Amino acid sequence: MKKYKGLAGAKGHKMGKAVVKPAQECAVSRSKIEDADEEIRRFKEVQSAYSEELLKLFETTKEELGQDAAEIFKAYRMIANDDYFFQNAFRKVKEERINIDYAIEQEKQKTCAMFAGMEDTYMRERGMDIENVCNELIARLKGIAVGQERFAPETEPFIVVAQDLTPADTVRLDKKYLRGFVTEKGGVTSHAVILAKTLGIPAVVGACGVTDEIENGASLYINGTEGYVVCEPDEALIKQYELEKEAMDRLADHYAKMAKKEARTLDGRRISVCVNAGDADSMEEFDAESCDGVGLFRTEFLYMDERDYPSEDRQFDVYREVLSKAAGKEVIIRTLDIGGDKQLDYMDLPKEENPFLGYRAIRLCLDRKEVFKTQLRALLRASVYGRLKIMFPMIVTLEELREAKALLEEAKAELKEEGRAYAPKIPTGIMVETPAAVLLSDKLAREADFFSIGTNDLIQYTTASDRMNEKVQYLYTPQNLSVLRAIRLVIENGHKAHIPVGMCGEAASDERLVPVLLGLGLDEFSMVPPQVGKVKSMICRMNHKEMEALAQTVLSLDTVKEVEETLGKLSFAEREGEADAALPRE
Ligand code: PEP
Ligand code: MG
Repeated sequence: MKKYKGLAGAKGHKMGKAVVKPAQECAVSRSKIEDADEEIRRFKEVQSAYSEELLKLFETTKEELGQDAAEIFKAYRMIANDDYFFQNAFRKVKEERINIDYAIEQEKQKTCAMFAGMEDTYMRERGMDIENVCNELIARLKGIAVGQERFAPETEPFIVVAQDLTPADTVRLDKKYLRGFVTEKGGVTSHAVILAKTLGIPAVVGACGVTDEIENGASLYINGTEGYVVCEPDEALIKQYELEKEAMDRLADHYAKMAKKEARTLDGRRISVCVNAGDADSMEEFDAESCDGVGLFRTEFLYMDERDYPSEDRQFDVYREVLSKAAGKEVIIRTLDIGGDKQLDYMDLPKEENPFLGYRAIRLCLDRKEVFKTQLRALLRASVYGRLKIMFPMIVTLEELREAKALLEEAKAELKEEGRAYAPKIPTGIMVETPAAVLLSDKLAREADFFSIGTNDLIQYTTASDRMNEKVQYLYTPQNLSVLRAIRLVIENGHKAHIPVGMCGEAASDERLVPVLLGLGLDEFSMVPPQVGKVKSMICRMNHKEMEALAQTVLSLDTVKEVEETLGKLSFAEREGEADAALPRE
C-alpha cells in the first residue's frame, strides 16, 4: 500500500483498477525543406482536418455532457485556427527553409514558457491548452494517428492515471466504468477536473510520480475530497471504503427523493430553492418538479455562441423557449453581463488593466444602448410565454437602476406602438454583487422588485481578493465576517422594503453557509441542479428560529477561523442521524 498526495480536484472517493495513460512521445527534429509554400499548404490541410475533428468533438460532447463540458473544444478550435499565432512559424519556414512541425514546436515552447511564468493558475492552464493544440497538430503533421480509438475500453471500474489529460483524451474515455482521474499536471480548474465534476466522480491533480510508479491494472483508492490516492490499499482501507460507499449511495438516493419535495423548515417556513442555468440547452434537463424556478439565467452564453450580436428575433426564440420549459415557474433572466475579462471579438472592447473593475455588465449596456434595447425588446416579447423577472447585473448606483428601468419602459412603449404583446407585470430586480450595492441597498430596495445576492463577485469585491488567484483563496471565502455582514444588511434592507431577497452565487449551496443564510432570512437559494436535493434536505431538517439564533452567534464572532469552527461543528453528516454516522465529512 502506497499513498500519493496531490490536490483535491473533484470531491468523492472511489475504487478501481489503474489505467495508466502512456506519455505520447513525439520528438520533433529540425530538417531542411525545399518548398516553403508546399510546407505551409501541408500545415493548412492538417489544420483544417483537425479543426473539423474539434467541431465533431464539440458536438458529441455537447450531446453527451452538455454545453459547459463542450466549450473547451470551441476554445481549442479557436487556437488551432488562429493564423496570427502561427505567423512566426510560417515566417521561419519561409526564411530558414525549415520543417513546419519544428517551427511550431519552437513557437509552442516560447509561448508556453511565457504562460508557465504567470502567477494566475487560470492563465497557466490556458498555456497548457496552447501546448495541447500544438502537440495535436505536430502529431498529425508527423502522421501519428491520434484521437481515433476509444481510450481504455474497460469492462470493470477503472481510474485513469496520467501526466495530464487533454479534453480530447477525456472525450475518448469510456465513461460507463470510469471512476476517477489522477494526474501529475493540471490545477484545480483544469478540464479533467471540470469533467469529473460534471460526471460526479473524484479527481486528484498534481500527484507527482504516479505515472512512473503506478502500474496498469493496480488496485487504486482515490479520495478527491482530501486529494490523495492509495495504490494497493490494504484490507482495512477497503472495508472502510465499502462502508463509505454504502452510506454515499444511501445519501444519493435520499437527495434524489428530497429534490422532489418542497423546502420547508421544521417550524413551517417555506423556502424557495431554484436552479441556475446558462443556456437554452441547459433547460433541456430542467425538472419543474424539483425546484421553484430559475433563480439565474445567464444570457452571456447566447452572445458568446455567436459571431455577431444575436438579433432580437434570435434572442426572443431562446428566451421564449426558456420560459416555456419552466412550465409556469418563475424565471429570472439576467441581462448581459459581459465585458472586462469576458471578451467578445465582435464587441471590440478595449483592453483593460483591471477588467473586473472596468467596462462590463450594466455599464456597457447603458453605454451601448442599442445592444441593451435589443435584449430588452426580446425579453419583453418573450414575457408572454411564462413568468419572467428581469435582473440587472453589477449595479453600483441608483442612477444605473433608474436608467435601466427607463430603457425598459422605452422598449415597452415601442412594442406597444408596434402592436406587439408583452406581459403586464414583469418584476425588475438587481444582482447585489458589489459593496456599493450593499451599502445602498436601503435605497435600491425601494426601486427594485427583488434582490439576488451574487456572492461570487461580492466576495472578491468585498475582500479585495481575485476569485481566480490561488494565493489569496484564504481570503476569498463567504465565511469572512465582512461578507456575512454584507449579506445580513442586504437581507434586512430588502425585507424592510418588503421585497424578496435571493442568492444565486455559489455560496447558496455551500453546506457550511446554508444554516446561517436561512437564519439571516434569505428567501430564495439558487444553485446548479445537482445541489438542489442536498440543500432542500438541509432546510427540511432545520428549525428557522434556531438558525436565527445561530446566525446571531456567528455574526458576533471575530475571526474567519471562529466562523469556520462554529459552522464546521454543524456538519451535515452529524445531522443525518445514527444510520449515516459512517458518512465521510465532505
Ligand atoms: C455572482 O457574482 O455571484 C454571480 C452569480 O454572477 P457570475 O458568477 O455570473 O459573475
Ligand atoms: Mg457576478
